[in-house]
Amino acid sequence: MTKILIIEDEVELVKVLRSYLEQSGYQVIEALRGDKGLVLWEQHKPDLVILDLNLPGMDGLDVARHIRQKSDTPILMLTARVEETDQIVGLEIGADDYVTKPFSPKVVVARVRALLRRAAGERSKGQVMRVADLEIDIEAHAVRRSDQEIELSPTEFNLLVVMASQPGRVFSRLQLLEASQGVAYEGYERTIDAHIKNLRAKLEKDPKNPQYIETVFGVGYRFTRTSES
Ligand code: CA
Repeated sequence: MTKILIIEDEVELVKVLRSYLEQSGYQVIEALRGDKGLVLWEQHKPDLVILDLNLPGMDGLDVARHIRQKSDTPILMLTARVEETDQIVGLEIGADDYVTKPFSPKVVVARVRALLRRAAGERSKGQVMRVADLEIDIEAHAVRRSDQEIELSPTEFNLLVVMASQPGRVFSRLQLLEASQGVAYEGYERTIDAHIKNLRAKLEKDPKNPQYIETVFGVGYRFTRTSES
């Protein structure tokens, strides 16, 4: 369940926000002081923080700074006046968005949703590699082209990831053997040729005229540097 921490000293406001957020399916934790909020943040590692600027204990700017030193947890700032908003933007403390009071709780819920979606998008970005017109999903061990799945064996997949991570770099057969299988025995380098041949057969539109994996004669292979597609 998605956890949201509200750090806000206006009890009535917390009540309203809590009720709206819970109706939207979020779990809510609350703190009425800045320092207490930071402790709860450490304990619960919420998915998002709604943070008031003027707080007893520790002000919102300091709370935000502390959180930012340790993580990218999305922060939605609540500010009482437009001048405060200028302050937040000017200081670039790392708040992801802000809402100026008085606000409609529906607006806050909408902003929360948008921030969580954005955060989820950023998390999954690192796991998917896009080279040429290929999409290589490292987590799922899957390769796609125009939404079509290309089935690869684990060795073929590893070879592709190794080469596609550094387009244009030439890899020797021994390097590819080691990178794709974790070990390299001299004399077995030629087995790479068989794997490359299979990889091309699955990947290339015309395996005889490879577009992704180029042969560098006398040396090895490289993933094409240009992404013509
Ligand atoms: Ca306040």
